Amino acid sequence: MTERAYSRADLGGPIPDAHFIAGQWCKSADGRTFETIDPSSEQVLAKVARGNASDIDKAVEAAHRAQRGDWRDVSPAERGRLIFKLADMLEMDAERFALLETLDVGKPVREALGDVRGVCATLRYNAGAADKMEGQTVPLGRDFVDFTMLEPVGITAHIVPWNYPLGMVARSVAPALAAGCTAVIKPAEQSPLTALAFAELCQRAGFPDGVVNVVAGFGEDAGAALVSHPLVRGITFTGSVATGRKIYSGAALGLKPVVLELGGKNPMIVFEDADLERAAFDALDGCFGNSGQVCSSSSRFLLHRSIRDEFLDRLAEGAAKLTVGRGLDNCDLGPLVSQEQYAKVRSYIEEGSRAGAKLRLGGGSPRGLDAGYFVEPTIFDAVDPASALAREEIFGPVAVALSFDAPDEALDMANGLDFGLVAGVYSRDISRALSFARDIEAGSVWINGWFIGGAQAPTGGIKDSGIGRERGLPGIRNYLSTKNIGIRL
Ligand code: ADP
Repeated sequence: MTERAYSRADLGGPIPDAHFIAGQWCKSADGRTFETIDPSSEQVLAKVARGNASDIDKAVEAAHRAQRGDWRDVSPAERGRLIFKLADMLEMDAERFALLETLDVGKPVREALGDVRGVCATLRYNAGAADKMEGQTVPLGRDFVDFTMLEPVGITAHIVPWNYPLGMVARSVAPALAAGCTAVIKPAEQSPLTALAFAELCQRAGFPDGVVNVVAGFGEDAGAALVSHPLVRGITFTGSVATGRKIYSGAALGLKPVVLELGGKNPMIVFEDADLERAAFDALDGCFGNSGQVCSSSSRFLLHRSIRDEFLDRLAEGAAKLTVGRGLDNCDLGPLVSQEQYAKVRSYIEEGSRAGAKLRLGGGSPRGLDAGYFVEPTIFDAVDPASALAREEIFGPVAVALSFDAPDEALDMANGLDFGLVAGVYSRDISRALSFARDIEAGSVWINGWFIGGAQAPTGGIKDSGIGRERGLPGIRNYLSTKNIGIRL
């Protein structure tokens, strides 16, 4: 695909106002719909079915029938083959999926296309692993044979956020399918379209009806009904801490295992001996990629005082060149996803200025765009470590810089929040970088690079950033339960 401007007409077909359940499009039981908004124009993009408990029930029943029926009889190797086929079909259809994503959440088509490629890689990783998840033999002594079998946990719920709508679906659904589970997906109300298209693609790839189901709708009704459904045996959620707590409480009542990924305020620590060109280059994408709407963004820069100005000058120089505009026009930064998110990010920017942080770049809305939730790349320096700007997840294109003199100070600041998703260390002294990697409280630590990873590398948080790990083989283990079989000889 060349880099050009797109329009909605490039989609080439209507957007269905239905859920995808048991291999078919289904209207909501009560006929209700809601509007999904194009964040770059604030116009209604499509009407989408608004699911409630009866639609969830229908989807879970379909998943139950598949789990007990056709899907159970599909061998692990054949499951892998189906997932590989799905990846091939998605690759062929990448442009349509990317356009749907861009229209729904605003991100540049180029990035949306990169997301689709990432989804293909995720599918293929899990496809290849489907027939390699092995049990163990257990040494009980001469008179016994004891072994473990890994079994699919059953029906799994996937409650998905809006920042990488298709990517987040694939991150948890691909391993669930590889493990032999069925899935009911509840996409975010801001971004339901690619999840629905994905379920339909699964059906065309040959997955039995009911293996992958999508119910669109809101968290409080469709999402909560899915969490509490008695037939659901595993829940994977990515989203805010507040919603994560609710889901965990709901899951506790049903004694259901959860995987929760709940965001972060991720420190990028830059020492005086760092390669500043590299660090500033990574920071540009780390902080402004996807308009900052990334759980693992470099949302807190902890800078050694001696290089602070040079680092921020480089970052500001790069950020000033970023173009802001419609995702369809392939600008560098698209709009934020919604009015609500826009208002939230703006209030952080205003609060930062009020609290005395020094605005080095941006802070406003780009000129020439009279509609849409656009925010300029913004850089704050001299941020008070106690302020909301320094402590809370903003989820927008806002860089927040703090300085340190001694390494211990940097470590205290890095570990001083309740979050613990990702941290990064930039230093040419590998011993120091590894000592920091050891001592930092985070699920992932990146050294001299940002966004290091892929389908193979486990990810997830500690502290308020979540429970459990996704991706890699641990990602598949989430959907397998261990059965022990003992035999007396
Ligand atoms: P945001 O980042 O917009 O605050 P949330 O964390 O609330 O997002 O939402 C992420 C996902 O969780 C969405 O699919 C949303 O619909 C869903 N959700 C929100 N509230 C609940 C709930 N009480 N139960 C289940 N799912 C929910």
